[in-house]
Amino acid sequence: MIMIDSVLPATIARRLAVDGGCWTLPNADPAWYGTIHHEGKVWALHRLVYTIVVGQIPDGMVLDHLCCNKACCNPAHLEPVSQSENVRRSFTPGAEQKRRVLFGPSPSRSTAEICDKITFVLPRQLIERLRTVAKRNRRSLVGELAWAVEQYLRQQEQA
Ligand SMILES: [Zn+2]
Repeated sequence: MIMIDSVLPATIARRLAVDGGCWTLPNADPAWYGTIHHEGKVWALHRLVYTIVVGQIPDGMVLDHLCCNKACCNPAHLEPVSQSENVRRSFTPGAEQKRRVLFGPSPSRSTAEICDKITFVLPRQLIERLRTVAKRNRRSLVGELAWAVEQYLRQQEQA
């Protein structure tokens, strides 16, 4: 286990709380990224801590929270992945389950939050079309979206 004090400057370490294995700002909401002021800049907490402890985040990569706690900045819970891989993971059946076994319970995701995330990947018009289809067939939008993301990513890979 990494000790906060040994890897982070005291100015950051003293502001963090350890909750389970996760490092967060006190009373953080697991559904939101924490932010922190550091050397005159506002940082996403997890990006700052990762950069200090591990090093620069590779260009074009995002940090996936393996623990599903967005407020967490423990570098051992963060993995740099492409944006499309990050989205794919959030839709892979069973992936969430496995993470829970490894890292404990995860905050539940709302439909709105999932829709937010996939607008990075799917064109907005397609999402609107899926919303109509889901409504007509009385199916869940999330299910339709998950399917569409799979198809879309597959096409991207082949292109
Ligand atoms: Zn964590």
